[in-house]
Amino acid sequence: MFSIARGEVMDRFEPRVLICCECREEFVFTVAAQQYFAERGYSDDPRRCKSCHTAYKKQQRDHQVVHQGGDSDDSFYR
Ligand SMILES: [Zn+2]
Repeated sequence: MFSIARGEVMDRFEPRVLICCECREEFVFTVAAQQYFAERGYSDDPRRCKSCHTAYKKQQRDHQVVHQGGDSDDSFYR
């Protein structure tokens, strides 16, 4: 009985390959990451791979740019 619900959860997501908007490299939007997004109500896909995301966040901090929204993968890679 209960194993059915678990199977449904697993069926909702599958790893997807996305293209980074910065370096144009492919990166994997993992099931765990998709669940993270879903839990927070994010509807957009991450736009950057891990290395570009890290650099982007660092650049934002360095320039003290106020978060403008739209980059929904804010704390995704922690
Ligand atoms: Zn990248």
